[in-house]
Amino acid sequence: MAALDGLPPLRDVIAKHGLDAKKALGQNFLLDLNLTQKIARTAGSLDGVTVIEVGPGPGGLTRAILALGAKKVIAIERDSRCLPALQEIADHYPGRLEVIEGDALKTDFELLAPDGPVKIIANLPYNVGTQLLVNWLLPPEWPPFWQSLTLMFQREVGQRIVAREGDNHFGRLGVLAGWRTEAHMAFDVPPQAFSPPPKVTSTVVHLTPIVTPLPCEAAQLEKVTHAAFGQRRKMLRQSVKSLGGEALLNKAQIDPARRAETLSVEEFCRLANLI
Ligand code: SAM
Repeated sequence: MAALDGLPPLRDVIAKHGLDAKKALGQNFLLDLNLTQKIARTAGSLDGVTVIEVGPGPGGLTRAILALGAKKVIAIERDSRCLPALQEIADHYPGRLEVIEGDALKTDFELLAPDGPVKIIANLPYNVGTQLLVNWLLPPEWPPFWQSLTLMFQREVGQRIVAREGDNHFGRLGVLAGWRTEAHMAFDVPPQAFSPPPKVTSTVVHLTPIVTPLPCEAAQLEKVTHAAFGQRRKMLRQSVKSLGGEALLNKAQIDPARRAETLSVEEFCRLANLI
């Protein structure tokens, strides 16, 4: 499709720079600039905002974020083949795109834009997406350095992030996201929107920090969720046995015959505070 920003269509960019998608890097590129704009718009106003993007690839989402007026984009990309394509975008938007070649899992995001405000927007590589989200949810200081996360995941992962008690998808991710953020699924993206198409539907999840989450230590919460959901079909008296079992549950005023997925985030925090 013709590009509104005057840059070449993404198909041409990919052909010109020989960016054949590599499965090992989770490369499923978005080629429709209307769709990338829809993702970027989900983050709300970008006026005066520095956006951190993980995995810009050929730059479809990067272009949308810049066209929507972000003050600056700092993009971390592992695949050096993408750098010349990204340089063309940087030349088109002088001083507004900084590309860092590197592994997002080894990046200290807090140091990238100390003057804020920062929003994170990414069509994440599926193999590292969940780990990055957990890292962004569990910094020692809260509220975090970011104002919002707008992230593409496989739909099933999105369902786990927004799930709460009573939902089959509720687990560790739902507890961590529910403890510190308001999270919702914004919209689904079908496989055919990507090149190459992945096997499953994707979804865009939007998260904003709760300013004062329930007081709780992240490490303790992780311990409780790990134990409780590690044996999710068992009663809690069995699954949290190593953390105090029935005595712990009684102290927290939680029926030991309940199962992990019936507990609210508040009850998980209560348990975490007692171990
Ligand atoms: N943002 C582009 C788009 O929407 O079309 C590409 C998205 S593609 C799903 C994921 C991108 O993340 C790829 O460009 C891949 O090279 C990059 N990537 C994979 N692992 C990475 C890592 N550990 N750190 C940074 N980038 C990574």
